[in-house]
Amino acid sequence: MSSSRPVLFLVSAEAGCVRADPETPHVSVMDLGVTRGDGIFETISVCDGRAQALEPHLARFARSARLLDLPEPDLDLYRRAVLAAIEAHDDVAELYVKTVMTRGIEGTGVPTGWAYAAEAGDFARARTEGIRAVTLDRGLRHDVAQTSPWLLQGAKTLSYAVNRAALREAERRDADDVIFTSSDGYVLEGPTANVILRRGDTLVTPRTDQGILAGTTQASVFDFAHSIGLATEYAVVPVAELASADALWLVSSVRQAVPINSLDGVEREIDAELSARMTAYLLGRRE
Ligand code: PLP
Repeated sequence: MSSSRPVLFLVSAEAGCVRADPETPHVSVMDLGVTRGDGIFETISVCDGRAQALEPHLARFARSARLLDLPEPDLDLYRRAVLAAIEAHDDVAELYVKTVMTRGIEGTGVPTGWAYAAEAGDFARARTEGIRAVTLDRGLRHDVAQTSPWLLQGAKTLSYAVNRAALREAERRDADDVIFTSSDGYVLEGPTANVILRRGDTLVTPRTDQGILAGTTQASVFDFAHSIGLATEYAVVPVAELASADALWLVSSVRQAVPINSLDGVEREIDAELSARMTAYLLGRRE
């Protein structure tokens, strides 16, 4: 376990960005973020003191707020809180900063916000050896974002109980993680990650208009792919293409790119060399 201390900054229109003790309570039991999971968040990786994809994270934070009809977050304030939290935290190799904005205490219309920084876990083994994934039906069609936008698929909301339940189901099936599929047979995303497939010299990810989160890590992996001459594609991916792909990854902030070494109990080859180069690129440790 890490010995570094987490850092907290509270964010509000009234007080701005104020450092607080992360070990004392700051959120009311009447806060709609607590009672309804009504709010949004972002988790930003920080490697060697540099925040990864900070602006794309902030832009997605604002997009999630719009999807939930929340007040527009003051991005200058949240940016300041993230950078101040990084600055105030002990110098560690990998850190994450989580920004949260809830709808606030019921009836007030005043959002509750904060940025919390803590040392990241050690994902070295998952990044090199890979993880076991299972496909689980999300029970929604791939066009749910168009047909039922009120389901908020594709927004990064605090309502992650379903995502956590899916991970427990994966554990029951002797796996580490999940690839959600649509009820009409397409690949979607993981509970906290995007899916990338390699088909020859092309990296493919499910199109982000299918009720999935547009991932900042996935976008960085595509930048990496272009930098080494690989093609990239956003596609509607039938589930059967998972089995025929040359390699598979789940990619997300903090854990970064992890290869999938078994899918639904069937062992798979991992692309160890490409995975290592992806990780180095994502961590900003390019040779
Ligand atoms: N999809 C979901 C549902 C997520 O929760 C996340 C991140 O937590 C991602 C995808 C990956 O997004 P990012 O790479 O920006 O962390």
